[in-house]
Amino acid sequence: MTDKKRIYLDYNATTPLYPTVIEGMASALQHTGNPSSIHYEGRQSRKMIEQARAQIAKCVGCQPKQVIFTSGATEANNMILKGYAPHRRILVSAIEHPSVLHSGVDVEVIPVLPTGLIDLDALKRLLESDSRPTLVSIMMVNNETGTIQPIEDIVALLKNYDCLFHSDSVQALGRIPLDFSTMGANFITLSAHKIGGPQGIGALIMAQGLNPPKLIHGGGQERLQRAGTENVIAIHGFGIAASKIAAEDIPSFQEKLKNYRHQIEKALKASYPSIIINACDSPRVGNTLSISIDGLDTSMLLINLDLEGISVSAGSACSSGSVHTSHVLKAMGHTDSLAKNSLRISMGWDTTQQDIDAFIEAWGNIIGRQ
Ligand code: PMP
Repeated sequence: MTDKKRIYLDYNATTPLYPTVIEGMASALQHTGNPSSIHYEGRQSRKMIEQARAQIAKCVGCQPKQVIFTSGATEANNMILKGYAPHRRILVSAIEHPSVLHSGVDVEVIPVLPTGLIDLDALKRLLESDSRPTLVSIMMVNNETGTIQPIEDIVALLKNYDCLFHSDSVQALGRIPLDFSTMGANFITLSAHKIGGPQGIGALIMAQGLNPPKLIHGGGQERLQRAGTENVIAIHGFGIAASKIAAEDIPSFQEKLKNYRHQIEKALKASYPSIIINACDSPRVGNTLSISIDGLDTSMLLINLDLEGISVSAGSACSSGSVHTSHVLKAMGHTDSLAKNSLRISMGWDTTQQDIDAFIEAWGNIIGRQ
């Protein structure tokens, strides 16, 4: 370990915990009690869970009973995909997280346009081609490029068909306003560690009256929807993070991050005029910057930035640390080599102007050495 402060710019992989989450979880660790027990300790644990459920419900605009805690968004996505695959045709976008694209069930893929936005005409053609009941899964915000899908248009189209709509909203929460009560989705999935909460906890939010098939069987927890003793401490942390997000002025926070992103884009363009800013003409969340540079070995760049104390990511971080060819960028029409030579910089609640200055300086040093 060196004394130099590290600059963390990989918020889409995971975020640092809010200090209030750390404090809340640390004090909750002192508490013993299975939330299913009826004695005092059990009731206190139950209280913590129900408080967090209410905080998350308030944050996303639903009733507490619509929130089902899971071990993360991967589990929640699997629950919906695996649960409905025996009963419905499954359509998923080409840029989904692997927990949707590769959940182990047969899916048909909806292409995206070079902008990274869903190809609505192709979706319509797919829906017209088969009259079976369908589940459509399209994420709100993409984790690699930050593109925001036109959820209103998607929902308007799906209304004409026998469809359930699931939207992985992991990267949307805290980055764009999210109101489940008006959004028109039947299910959304969330993950605490993308919003300043702990890893290993997430939620499925479901429309009233729906009863998705169970993925995990056993005890009667989570109103029989998800068996297993609840992760009380993590749920508590998730609740604190959600209430922080609910109190946040998201548009002005995103404006600040957009300004940081603009500074980085300018510096990168100055050093590499041929740089491609992925999805730059599409609606994008302010915290995410995805770039591709033909002929530049981004794995070396990543290592050099790491040595300079800066953490960024090559595409998504979900492939056990390996630099892989981004399926998202390929779906947008990039060649294999361009999709491989890409880098993701993602910011969040603890990012400062000093971090951006340090990144730009380190970038200049590395490029100058090449
Ligand atoms: N969906 C998206 C869009 C994500 O970015 C991630 C996290 N990489 C997940 C799902 C999986 O979430 P979790 O880590 O909670 O399983």
